[in-house]
Parts: sequence; structure tokens; C-alpha cells
Amino acid sequence: MKTWEHRERTRDMLAREVGHVRKPHGGRLRVALAFPNTYYVGMSSLGFQTVYRLFNDLDNVVCERVFLPPKQELQAQLRAGTPLVTLESQTPVSDFDVFALSVSFEWDYTNVVTLLRLAGLQPRSAQRTARDPLVVIGGAVTFVNPEPLAPFAEVIAAGEGELLIPSLVGAMTECADRDDLLRRLAAERGFYIPSFYDVRYQSDGTIAAFDVKAGTGAPATVKKAAVKSVDRLDPPATSIFTPDTEFGSRFLIEVVRGCANLCRFCWAGYNYLPVRAFPADRILELARQARAHSGKAGLVSIALCDHPEIERILTGLLEMGYSISPASLRLDDLTEPIVRLLRKSGERSITIAPETGSDRLRRVINKTVTNDEILAATDLIFANEIDNLKLYYMIGLPTETESDLVAIRDLTVEMRDIMLKHARPRGRVGRIVGSVNPLIPKPATTYQWLPMEDPAVTDAKGKRLRQLLSGLDNVYFNIKSERHSYYQALLSLGDRRVADAIEAAERNGGQWRAAVAEAGIDAAFYIFRDRSNDAVLPWDIIDGGMKSTFFQNEFAKSLREEWTLPPKRQQENRKLLPVLE
Ligand code: SF4
Repeated sequence: MKTWEHRERTRDMLAREVGHVRKPHGGRLRVALAFPNTYYVGMSSLGFQTVYRLFNDLDNVVCERVFLPPKQELQAQLRAGTPLVTLESQTPVSDFDVFALSVSFEWDYTNVVTLLRLAGLQPRSAQRTARDPLVVIGGAVTFVNPEPLAPFAEVIAAGEGELLIPSLVGAMTECADRDDLLRRLAAERGFYIPSFYDVRYQSDGTIAAFDVKAGTGAPATVKKAAVKSVDRLDPPATSIFTPDTEFGSRFLIEVVRGCANLCRFCWAGYNYLPVRAFPADRILELARQARAHSGKAGLVSIALCDHPEIERILTGLLEMGYSISPASLRLDDLTEPIVRLLRKSGERSITIAPETGSDRLRRVINKTVTNDEILAATDLIFANEIDNLKLYYMIGLPTETESDLVAIRDLTVEMRDIMLKHARPRGRVGRIVGSVNPLIPKPATTYQWLPMEDPAVTDAKGKRLRQLLSGLDNVYFNIKSERHSYYQALLSLGDRRVADAIEAAERNGGQWRAAVAEAGIDAAFYIFRDRSNDAVLPWDIIDGGMKSTFFQNEFAKSLREEWTLPPKRQQENRKLLPVLE
């Protein structure tokens, strides 16, 4: 694409947006903020939009956006060496003080390398100089296990932007040079400087230690930054509206952060603690302001109904004329008024996550609901004229047997019967759509030491489940094979040596098998090894607030099929949890 065509396309894109920020660069800290995927995907990310707003809320900062060019332009741009420029002012990224990348998904790791190359930067921080922009990588994946990305960043921002962004900007404006800056950041909460640590390995390839380099003053582990209270914070909400995204001009807003249920497989549950509810008045005020640009509200929260004023929020949104779409709803929090309000706002489908079919296996994973409660929630949903139900299940859970697979079928059949009971008299029968994913043991969860299940076993379970579910009218299942998640698991569980494979996959167009071979990485070592005897795990460098002894106890309870906290309310949970200071 020629330069003038590119400029024209950018102008068109900006013209279709409402809410982007233009500021003169003079005298300001300049931040190029990238989402390592296309505009279409990146602009649907509430996290990305929030970081953009948080930077631009500071008067002494100008923050402009960068995305991965569409496929057809990308290769041409790389070949021609056309510099990567920001959307707002068409300034080359290499002219900025900071190149910040907000990374939400493991699959975007290769795009991080592509963006660095497009920006004219060496991918590895060790090969860059202090004249290059400071490369800061943040986002959800990096505060769980940043190690595979560690060699690409000067700074990994671990935690929540509301705290990290003012600290970063403060340090950048006060420090005289790059060395000073990195030392200052290393001393602050939430900033991990990978070059300040030497990773020492045992002869079997496991990590022996992260050795802090002398003179850096870096801490032995980096404490994740999390805001204590959100009482005086604006909730993250869409600040730029554009029709050119996955969700169209939907108004996204975070209602409550965190989930107190502590399901043993769930990294989001463990890593967004403590549970914090944004002020209802502010949520409604922002929604009122956004109403001119959007008629659809997307409520982004992993435990939406944990908000003490959720009914008032839903009622308020409804009165403003919004149609409301919640993310997945936690089963134990579904109440009649909530379902009724959702139906009234036009919702025809609700998503819930039974995770598995048997109460026994749900006790193993600490999903604190029973089949009886799930069936009661199903009745509530269909009685209130919701037509369709989406279900999330997992396979490959610890202690799972054939009878647990049969239980998935049995539970689904009972749910379908409830759907038919309500739907037939109305003369309108909806669908139950199930999605089944193999468990990927995640860092910083109770299952962090577990190997992923043997693919042959998971495939056999998938096949059996397909048989069990075949021929059920109005029920549709998508059962994913383990191969689908294999390399995602590598990126999730890897250490900084996996960076070689990321670079190789970026070069060869995402051929992971060849990339892993080229990098000399043994993927099975990371994915299928029991890590319970490892001295140090790659993600131990980040202290997310949960102690390893807590996870060990949880694992023992998992095998004893014990729930940790039958009462699910956050106040009760709080007494038992290490709340971040
Ligand atoms: S209820 Fe959902 S969000 Fe909460 S811990 Fe369990 S899986 Fe995670």
C-alpha cells in the first residue's frame, strides 16, 4: 500500500471514531501504545482502551495507538521497511519515548515481535540502546507468566494500569537516564526488569533460581500492583467508539473486578483478587454519557453479580434504553430479577459454566455449585423466556473418569428437558450450545504443577463425549481437541528460553512445530512434565499475592474432593484470603 493510500485509510478510520485524543507532542512524554493484533480486535479490548485513557488523562503525556497492519499489508510493509506509525498523528513509533504493548492473549506473542520489527527496533532488549523507545509490555497475560516475553521488554508491567501508569510516567519524567530509570522502576511495585535477573538452570533443565544482578537493587520477586479499593476510580469503559470492531459500537464497562469463588483451575479468579465493585453511580453516569454513541451495553466482569448493586445498575441501563449483554454469569448469583431484567433488555441467550457434569468433580475443582442449583438456574432462565443457553465444560480435569463424561451428558439432557418444558407451550424452541475445552493447567493456580493430560487420553474422552451427545435434538456441542491448545500451553507455561521459539514462529509464519524444532525447545518438557518437584517455576518471579502453601493445601483438598468455601460471598472469602496491600 502506498503512503498516501495508507494515510487516507487512517483518516477514514479516525473519521469513523468518536473519542480519540489528539494532543500536541511538544513538552510531553510520548507513548506509542500497541495492541499486538489488528485494529478490529484491539479496539474491542477494554483493557487496551483503558490504558489509552489512563495515559491520556495525564496532561504531561500524549498517547497514540498502534495496531498490527492487516495481513495483506503486513508483508509488503515488512519488505519495504515502511516504518510503523501511530494512528493519531502518523508519527513513527521509533520517535516515541515509550513503546507500550498491551498483551491479552498468548497467541499474540509472535505479533509482539512483528510490531517491534515493524517499528525498526531489534526484538531483543539486549540488542537495543537507550536511544530506542523504552519497550514496556503489560496486559493480562504478563502478570501471570511474563517469562516467555521477558527477553523482548525492558520493563514488564505486572498488575493493574491504574497504579502502574502514574508510577511509570512519574519515573520517566524524573529520571535522568535509562539506567537510573530501570533501577527506580525495579524498586517500585509491579515493575519487573528482566535484564536485572540471571536465570540459573539445573542440569535437568528446570530453573534453579532467579539471581538478582549486583547493583540493580531489584527485589527477589516482583509484587504485582493491584489497587486496594476502586471506590474513587472510574470504571474501565469504552472511551473510543467505532463501528469497525468485533463488538461494533458497543459500550463496554467493567462493573466489578475479580471473583471470590476460587475455582482451582481459574487464573482470572486467583489473579484479580480482591473483589472490588466499581461505584454504581459512576457506572450509570458513564453509561448516560455514552448513550449518544451506543445502544448496547457489554458488562465486562468475571463475576458480574457479585456487585452489591447489580439490580440497580441493570435497571438503570434498561431505563436508558440499553440492550444489555453480560459476560458469562456465575450460576450461584443468578436471581429472578436479574434474569428478568436481562430478558427485558432483549437478551435471548445466557452463558453459564457448569464446567463438568458431576457434583463430585465440581468439588475437586472447587466450583461451588451443585447439579440441583444448576438445574434450578436453568429453570429460572427458560421460565423467563430466554431461548438459548450456552454452556462451558472442561475435560482433562484431575480424577476425571468415564462416569464424569456420562454426567456431562446427563446434566445436559436434564437442562434440555427443562428448555423443552418451557419452550413447547410457547411454540418456540431454542438451542443449547456446549463448548468443551481441555484443561490447560495455568500458572498461579492450584493446578500450576500439573502436567497437561496425555493428548491420546483427552482425544479418547472427546470421542466418547461426542458419542454420548450424538442424536440429542436442539443440543450442539463443540469439543476442542488438545492439539488446539498445545502451543498455547507452551506459551502459558514456558520460561524465557521459549522466546527463541516465539521468534522462530514469527519468522516462519506461525509454523509452531518447525519453530520449536528450530529453537531446539522440547515442548513436552514444558507441557507434559509434573512440576511438583521444581525448585522454582518460571512465573514465581511475580508475586501475585497467593502463597505456594495455599495452592498446595488447595491441591490436597482437590484430591480429597473438598470445597474450600461453600459460602460464596466475598466478605466471607475475604477473611480467608491474602488481600493485597
Ligand atoms: S466462578 Fe468463574 S471467574 Fe470465578 S473463579 Fe470460578 S471460573 Fe473463575
